Amino acid sequence: MPDDTFRYLADGLTDEVLAQDDRAVLRTLRGPTLVRFPGGDHAPPRAVSTLLHGDEPTGFQAMLHLLRERPRLPSTLYLFVGNVRAALAPPGYAHRYLDDQEDLNRIWAPSAVTTPLRDAAAQALQHLRDAGCRDPGRPAQHLRRHPLPRDRHPGPAGDVEPRHAVHHPDRALGAPERRARRGAPRCL
Ligand SMILES: [Zn+2]
Repeated sequence: MPDDTFRYLADGLTDEVLAQDDRAVLRTLRGPTLVRFPGGDHAPPRAVSTLLHGDEPTGFQAMLHLLRERPRLPSTLYLFVGNVRAALAPPGYAHRYLDDQEDLNRIWAPSAVTTPLRDAAAQALQHLRDAGCRDPGRPAQHLRRHPLPRDRHPGPAGDVEPRHAVHHPDRALGAPERRARRGAPRCL
């Protein structure tokens, strides 16, 4: 059963896991997970966050698509997969977050660690800070200052801007999903 317990996987995902479809990968992860994919040391580590909202699978699916190619990474990549439980809740990819959860995109500021998701956010941030990632946890402010052009494709191993593009690929790609969500709460 999925839960909201944070997990950290330091050695990437196995070929067996990556060979599964996206929902099966989520069932394997079970909860909010930070996965480290070791890479070269020619550049600072990069972090990509996906599925902060359970109804936004595109970035996660795009990252799986890239990772299955086993690219040689110029720097270590951290992939955060956020609200796994909401994503897996029937009928799948239908819930931004569940009734007993908080909005995972609202709990990244320093605050008391009072819930499993807050604990997951705090632990993920600590891992990224320890790894030397720059400017973790400031997506909203950054995106407001630098909105992405719609025709821009998310990068394979995003720094700050591609990270947001992966979490919100609709902003970058103009996906129909964006129109479908009209009237839903704004993400950021
Ligand atoms: Zn969102």
